[in-house]
Amino acid sequence: MKRIEEMFGAKMREFTTVGIGGAAERLVFPRSVREIQEILASERAANREVRALGGGSNLLVSDGGVRGTVVCLKKNMGKVLFASGGTTVADAGVMLPRFAVLCALSALSGAEELGGIPGTVGGALTMNAGAYGRAIGDIVEWVEIVDPEGTLHRVAARDIRFSYRTAEYPVGGIIARAGFRLRPGHSDDAFSRMKTLNEGRRASQPWGERTFGSTFRNPPGLERAAVLLERVGMKGAREGDAMFSEKHANFMINRGRAGASDILRLIARGREAVRKLADITLATEVKMWGFADE
Ligand SMILES: Cc1cc2nc3c(=O)[nH]c(=O)nc-3n(C[C@H](O)[C@H](O)[C@H](O)COP(=O)(O)OP(=O)(O)OC[C@H]3O[C@@H](n4cnc5c(N)ncnc54)[C@H](O)[C@@H]3O)c2cc1C
Repeated sequence: MKRIEEMFGAKMREFTTVGIGGAAERLVFPRSVREIQEILASERAANREVRALGGGSNLLVSDGGVRGTVVCLKKNMGKVLFASGGTTVADAGVMLPRFAVLCALSALSGAEELGGIPGTVGGALTMNAGAYGRAIGDIVEWVEIVDPEGTLHRVAARDIRFSYRTAEYPVGGIIARAGFRLRPGHSDDAFSRMKTLNEGRRASQPWGERTFGSTFRNPPGLERAAVLLERVGMKGAREGDAMFSEKHANFMINRGRAGASDILRLIARGREAVRKLADITLATEVKMWGFADE
């Protein structure tokens, strides 16, 4: 049996798009669903904490790092299979831009809107990521999840409650693979739609910066978090090297040497200013690891 690939004490800042985060006690890189099952079963037996990591694009890890085992899907779980029955099967570690391009090359339509999101299939499915009116929950048919004991479950989409940036699953654990139902289309149309959407992104969001994307969820109602933050003057606001983007007030940027504590201070400032202005308490969209109230 092949040994499971692992690293001890790796800096999480190298595995998050914002470039922040202390050491992970143990980081493992499974190559198959079987290996995810083995990891979860043995960690459960040893009573060790386990976390799943995708592209690290919606994540703030504390400067003190995280204890236990982080299961990184992005490195070795990247297969996409175009099955003859019409279902497209993707490993949880497949990056969404690659997924969208492979679907377009296969003349399948439905994944174009996901093509500009720098996360994995697994990360997107945990929070129903989406853009431009479409979310991953709209095209998924089933999801395979390895529960904390190591047992594999296949859950049908109708048993998952997808809503705005949330997904409630009947089983907890690590998403290993998913099946998608895409429509027959034309490669040229799919590529042209992705080009248009990505140009829109470049025009309205910071590009090539260290960021975890949106800091806050849009609150219920008509007000968007970015508009509220802009109104209270948060565009370009800084705490150390942490900054709300000048282009998009809800995007948090690491200008170089920001630590998690700088980001937390800026989040608190933005939230307090919006609360004073509009009596709305913004909830964070970014997931946090290694903090006291995680
Ligand atoms: C520049 C930029 C633009 C963005 N634009 C958008 C956008 O348009 N729309 C949008 O929705 N989001 C956007 N995001 C946010 C982010 O890309 C998405 O939330 C994405 O779905 C996160 O996926 P990930 O693989 O990076 O997850 P990670 O950041 O690695 O993890 C996020 C959470 O998901 C959990 N998780 C990850 N993989 C698994 C798994 N296999 N099983 C179980 N749990 C798992 C983690 O434990 C963690 O709690 C943007 C981010 C950036 C940096």
